[in-house]
Amino acid sequence: MANSSIGCNVTECKHHAKSINQCTLTHIEVTKHKNPATCSECTDCGSFEKQ
Ligand code: SF4
Repeated sequence: MANSSIGCNVTECKHHAKSINQCTLTHIEVTKHKNPATCSECTDCGSFEKQ
C-alpha cells in the first residue's frame, strides 16, 4: 500500500507504488555518501532495492 508520507519518483525500485509516486514501505532509511553532506545529491534512499 502506498505511503502518502513518503513521496518518491524512483520507479525502478521494487518498493515503489508504481500507480502513484509514493513508497510502499512504512519506514525508509535516508543515507548520505559524503560526510558532511553539503547538497541534496549527497543523500540517497538507503532502502532502495532493484526491481
Ligand atoms: S525504498 Fe526508497 S527508492 Fe524505493 S520506493 Fe521507497 S523511497 Fe523510493
